[in-house]
Amino acid sequence: MGNLSAINEIRRNIRYGDTKKAISVFDELLVGRPGYDDFIIQAGRWNSLDKEFREGLVTREQWSVGRVNFHKNLIRFAQEMEGEAGYSGLNEDARNYPVNVYFFACEFDVTSLKNQIIKQNKQQDIFEFQIINWPLWEGRIASEEAIKEQHFEGKLSFVDSIIEKVRQFPHQNRSENTIDLVITSLNMPKRFYTWTNIPRDGIVISQGTLRDIFEFSQETINDLILKVIQRMAIYALNIPDLKAHEATKGCVFDMTVDIRDLKNSIEINYLCRECEAIIASSEKGRAVLKHINKWVDNLILNQ
Ligand SMILES: [Zn+2]
Repeated sequence: MGNLSAINEIRRNIRYGDTKKAISVFDELLVGRPGYDDFIIQAGRWNSLDKEFREGLVTREQWSVGRVNFHKNLIRFAQEMEGEAGYSGLNEDARNYPVNVYFFACEFDVTSLKNQIIKQNKQQDIFEFQIINWPLWEGRIASEEAIKEQHFEGKLSFVDSIIEKVRQFPHQNRSENTIDLVITSLNMPKRFYTWTNIPRDGIVISQGTLRDIFEFSQETINDLILKVIQRMAIYALNIPDLKAHEATKGCVFDMTVDIRDLKNSIEINYLCRECEAIIASSEKGRAVLKHINKWVDNLILNQ
């Protein structure tokens, strides 16, 4: 196992909640290196906290806060090691994928989802999300009405038609890397909640379908949408051979055929071994792997 894939093994274990396993992988990697002593001290502290919790000497809350902090430190260690391995030298001129975000026929308060999406610009370096002022454009009413009145047999024609509409928005500054991302309260045919067009530069996410299936609060739906954005945006990069897998593993690329698995899938959210290997096997994939890891890490660091 190379160092870099070992480091991703640590990420996976943390996301799985298997702190012990993460420690043992780290131990192997770090032994004899600078930082090892510090790591041992921290791992020792964590072990005693864990023991105290099992003996009923500390509350679950104290244990949980300690665990989150320890995980954050592990991620920082991991990032340092990747820096030393020269991993950070890959494709520093990233952020060359502008993502135009459209709220199309949305029947919910989009304010906090907007904020969450904009914040993603700080969490990763691949995409630059920008909210398009679609709702204030007078032309949008006719576009939305046309879609509402049309009957769609399949998800692809639904996606193609909406993408065609949003591309009529005036003063578009499109580059060849621009991705259009549409969030809509309209239901996608056959209870699908997201799909892309064939060139993968147009993504539609149906808040309507997610709302109907889950009956969660809008806040929870927003979290779901955010994770769907994450996986669909990476998918839009057209990394060779990378596609969603049928098995639900909590991976960024779970297809979640059974939509009820979506919430499970999203709560863990890491990169599984299979997907990591596929991404690492092409030049394009390797160039973005670091950025995908950073995005996943920030889920841990921002807890
Ligand atoms: Zn996977």
